[in-house]
Amino acid sequence: MERVAISACLLGEICRYDGTSNKNEALLHALEGKELIGFCPEDFAFGTPRPTMDLVQSSAGVRAISNKTGEDLSYPVIAYAEDFFKKHPDIDLFIGKDRSPSCGVCSAKCYDEKKMLLSTGATGLMALEAKKRGIKAVDAEVYLSNIKG
Ligand code: SF4
Repeated sequence: MERVAISACLLGEICRYDGTSNKNEALLHALEGKELIGFCPEDFAFGTPRPTMDLVQSSAGVRAISNKTGEDLSYPVIAYAEDFFKKHPDIDLFIGKDRSPSCGVCSAKCYDEKKMLLSTGATGLMALEAKKRGIKAVDAEVYLSNIKG
């Protein structure tokens, strides 16, 4: 059975920054018959609800920076991802929530240090860990539109 790692908010978990979910019934229907393994690095690391963060291109590379405190929140997200992929070494497909600085695959916003928008096609920090491991990774909206043709 195909093993799919998927953003837990898409499964209906109340783990978004604002205490809601992104439950996507069409996506869940399209994934019937596959083993779904949910993840949420931000809920694990920071709890729900929580302040938002954005990707920022800095001299240290692309970092996740708190919009409330300016703190670099990258490490807890990356540590969660490393642990997740260690526990689940046989993932066939990664489906990330579009536009998330953690889970977006090719859809996150990335800013410079003066908060000027550099890109709307950046990769979130957890999705990047999937890509580094050679796991096929796709944004949820892209997955659905590919199915619909
Ligand atoms: S997009 Fe990722 S980090 Fe954000 S709520 Fe969903 S699973 Fe959690």
